[in-house]
Amino acid sequence: MTIPLSGWPKAVAAKSWLLAAVALPSLPAPAAEPLYMPRTVQQAYKNGTRSPDGRPGSKYWQNHARYSITVTTSPPNRRVTGTEQIVYANNSPDTLKGLVFKLLLNIHKPGAPRNGGANDDYLTSGVHIDGFTVNGTATPWGDDSRTFTNKRVPLPSPLLPRDSVRLAIDWHYDVSKESGREGAIDSTTFYLAYFYPRVAVYDDYNGWDTMEFTDQQEFYSDFNDYEVTVRVPANYIVWGTGTLLNPGEVLQPDFAQRFQASLTSDQTIRVATKEDLTAKRVTMQQPVNSWRFSARDIPDMAFNLSDHYDWDAASVVVDDATKRRASVQAAYNDTSADYHHMVQYGRHALDWLSHNWPGVPYPYEKTTIVQGFAGMEYPMMANDESYADTVFSRFVAEHEIAHTYFPFYMGINETRYAFMDEGWATAFEFLLGETDLGHEKAVSFFQQFRVASWISDPSPLEDLPIITPADVLKDAAYGNNAYGKPALGYLALKDLLGDTLFRKGLHEFMSRWHGKHPTPWDMYNTFNDATGRNLNWFWQNWYFTNGYIDLALMNARKTSAGYSLTIDNVGGLVAPVDVVVRYADGSSETIHETSAMWQGNQKRAAVAIKTKKLVQSLELSGGIWMDADSTNNKWMRP
Ligand SMILES: [Zn+2]
Repeated sequence: MTIPLSGWPKAVAAKSWLLAAVALPSLPAPAAEPLYMPRTVQQAYKNGTRSPDGRPGSKYWQNHARYSITVTTSPPNRRVTGTEQIVYANNSPDTLKGLVFKLLLNIHKPGAPRNGGANDDYLTSGVHIDGFTVNGTATPWGDDSRTFTNKRVPLPSPLLPRDSVRLAIDWHYDVSKESGREGAIDSTTFYLAYFYPRVAVYDDYNGWDTMEFTDQQEFYSDFNDYEVTVRVPANYIVWGTGTLLNPGEVLQPDFAQRFQASLTSDQTIRVATKEDLTAKRVTMQQPVNSWRFSARDIPDMAFNLSDHYDWDAASVVVDDATKRRASVQAAYNDTSADYHHMVQYGRHALDWLSHNWPGVPYPYEKTTIVQGFAGMEYPMMANDESYADTVFSRFVAEHEIAHTYFPFYMGINETRYAFMDEGWATAFEFLLGETDLGHEKAVSFFQQFRVASWISDPSPLEDLPIITPADVLKDAAYGNNAYGKPALGYLALKDLLGDTLFRKGLHEFMSRWHGKHPTPWDMYNTFNDATGRNLNWFWQNWYFTNGYIDLALMNARKTSAGYSLTIDNVGGLVAPVDVVVRYADGSSETIHETSAMWQGNQKRAAVAIKTKKLVQSLELSGGIWMDADSTNNKWMRP
């Protein structure tokens, strides 16, 4: 998700990144202490499901399901009826006496626990279960009015280890009039997400995921296989996760051909225009068209349907080795000027993310950006607002597409550790911004949008450790601990290790854990293992403490080689910093110090400046690592 914009960047003076001086630790480096680890996670290491070197353990397991879903809807009637068959495989060593289901759309029920308030138009009667069978036998669902997004259902007979169970569920719900992450975008455009009863994750370190969905957390899902049929009236187009299996059955031949052509086209092809839709010549003219999609090993599915949204598409090479292309599609109101560029923004994002950071070929066959109200990612789908400022439209699309990797490709438990999801997406967003906007503008934008609200707010909520489980955080404590703060940590690590070693750590983590469920400790341990560095001092400081960023330039002393600066770490976080040196002769230079300057002593560092010239003034400048108190950042020659 993209948190709401607090303001468009003002011009902020930025500085160049030049030579790094030699850092002089004031104390010998302490032995890297082990990181705090919850007892539940400690147990996973003892059980051998996770390995201390950061790899999945020899006994690693995760559960898996196959979903076959059919949903039917006929706007403007907001009713969605669904039927699904699930084959759920228990790969755990445990006997499961019951299952936990996620009924996420019960967030719309009056009285549901929820992070914010709800307008009348947001409220619905929730999800209604009309039938439930286990291995073909009708089984009581046990509805009760106090059940919201989390439903425990006992099984008639226990599900043994390495056994599977066949479930069938009929249900219906009404899409809400007010659309957020899902719902009725307008009277004949419905965004279907979180739309089917799903078996919750049962994992090796926490058991059943019984976390209530409050509209703040986003995803924790197993990797499942899906066949989904969306049944809609003629003249409705359906976009969604996975391969569209039957374009020839739902589209008129001309339009199926245009869609097909887009799969190899760099240029945007207007698959269906406003005129085409008004003339009702796009889809097959039968009472109901069944749009069939499939995807394997994917954490979720989402769909959008509309009878008047334009449809643009093109594609881009995401894997140079195989020349594999991924499709980029956009679905939008013709009046939204920014959306006419959206396919090319999406192509740029897929190209950049595949080739730069994370530098892993985009792992899916497509992405579709749908005009809605959310700024919200789903696998292969984004639901983004339209903005007057196209730079911002592109920025939001890039952020949501970056989520393809974290959480989806990586199976992150984003509901508990949002910083492994939003934090990475926000770090990639900054790096992509450097390409799009140039370094100076990207820094200024990041400061304004991702850092300023945290660093300028002295509330203790802002300084809670990033590792704090995200479900107990709210508002500012959630936003800054999920987005800006952890992104600054990841970017400080990149600055500390250099691109080559950082990439080695990141790629090793992604290669070991994609399609699985890594915890933060799997990430830390893998980076330590892959880079050959014990980075626990860095992880501990950035992710496990209440620190903030405030460095103070205490003094500068003349030495035989130049100057020695003493910098105190008032705020506690080990941030990189630039020292701007202005000489008496009018010249100046900027010296960059990575977080390495704090490895020996996290409270005080000495920085040497080699120069024969007379220094007139010195100033600390954090760049994206903004300093909470800049009044102690300057030194003037007495
Ligand atoms: Zn996000």
